Amino acid sequence: DCCLGCMKDNLKVLLLILAIFAGTALGFGLRAQGFHLVPRKVMYVSFIGDVFLNMLKIVILPLIVSSLVSGLAALESQTSGKIGARAVIYYFTTTVMAVILGIALVEIIRPGDVGKRHANGTAIPQVASSPTEPTTTVDTFLDLIRNMFPPNLVEATFKQHKTALLPPKGFNSSWFPNDTGTLPDYSGFIIESKKIDGINIMGLVVFSILFGITISRLGEKGKPLKLFFDSLNEVTMSIVGTIMWLAPLGITFLVAGQVLKVEDFGAMLEQLGMYFGTVLLGLLLHAFIVLPAIFFAFTRHNPYTYIVGSMQAFATGFATSSSSATLPITIRCVEEKNGVDPRISRFVLPVGSTINMDGTALYEAVACLFIAQTQNVPMDFGKIVAVSVTATAAAIGAAGVPQAGLVTMVMVLDAVGLDAKYVTMILAIDWFLDRIRTTVNILGDVIGCGIVQHLSKDFLAKMDEEQRLKRRAS
Ligand code: ASP
Repeated sequence: DCCLGCMKDNLKVLLLILAIFAGTALGFGLRAQGFHLVPRKVMYVSFIGDVFLNMLKIVILPLIVSSLVSGLAALESQTSGKIGARAVIYYFTTTVMAVILGIALVEIIRPGDVGKRHANGTAIPQVASSPTEPTTTVDTFLDLIRNMFPPNLVEATFKQHKTALLPPKGFNSSWFPNDTGTLPDYSGFIIESKKIDGINIMGLVVFSILFGITISRLGEKGKPLKLFFDSLNEVTMSIVGTIMWLAPLGITFLVAGQVLKVEDFGAMLEQLGMYFGTVLLGLLLHAFIVLPAIFFAFTRHNPYTYIVGSMQAFATGFATSSSSATLPITIRCVEEKNGVDPRISRFVLPVGSTINMDGTALYEAVACLFIAQTQNVPMDFGKIVAVSVTATAAAIGAAGVPQAGLVTMVMVLDAVGLDAKYVTMILAIDWFLDRIRTTVNILGDVIGCGIVQHLSKDFLAKMDEEQRLKRRAS
């Protein structure tokens, strides 16, 4: 029986990896057939992928609410506080470590200098006018708090607050940055916190925590609701299992659609190859050396077998560029394959998917310093510290949706006096870096989950024991 189960798991992982290759091959095949950049054709190719993405999104509301409520209703508030504190310390330290790694690499490799020397100085795309007032760290922080208290749970699954520079009424161009990468004229623009598309997981999390803790506090009176959410959770998790069987198909078409949307691979790599290589190297080191080492230091278990257990989550993260959309799969992998206690995973993962973004933090720091290098802006120690602080904040503030990091990048640039317009320089390759950093973000969440689980083992066991005694006594 176990053997069959293992084979099924291996098959799923194999299919997902094949899906990424198949999607790439399909994409290039169709490019050769003239599908490239033809909107209608790209739409048809992406169709199945989009449906898959919607299926992942539709389970977010029942999944997060039910898993957090049923998880927390089973904990005492003191215990949940301890778990939460451990998770937050982990998030913060690893994010800062990622930033430091990124800064070290970009200062050693200096990809910006290479960019300057390249192609008789025209390597850097020319950029237009600049915004008058970029968003700041305070704006991002306030958005985070606003998002924690949404007026409506259903709306929170598809809308979130984002402070942005908005065009005045009657302006007929999309807000920054628009599709073509050119910037509109910003005079007369206003700063406003607006609701934009995206999953506001923080909002769902805060309400569910309140709900779950209250159920546990009310004891007998809360019991029917606890049973209801336990059952809702079982059902949604089982649906997630079904969706996972469709993942290879969804991923193939998501990847193929993306390949068709890229303008010119050659030019992209020629201009930004060194920058790309630096971010990639940083992400790989962080994912395969730093995080596994931390995992091993705490748990004394093999980090790589643990990582392989959540392979499906990583493949989905790569294909969707979204930690939030991948969350249902991440929770399932960690619980089923890595044997993490649901009381830990349901608490640690949803929060982690929106605030713990090691990949994004590393990328923001590298991108900012790369831009400074190309512009010959010297960076002293104070400025580097400013980059580290804002890159950490920008990663915490970025939502788990595609290219959220590119938008919060503006505040990192602003912290060292660089104009927001320079974001357009790295636009061409961002779609790909986004996929990789999203995968690393998810890996950070998964590893954190394992560490918190290990550290909390004793008191979870004690709690189980107490409950058993209580039950026997009654
Ligand atoms: N796409 C990333 C994520 O969902 C966020 C980012 O843009 O860096 O984790």
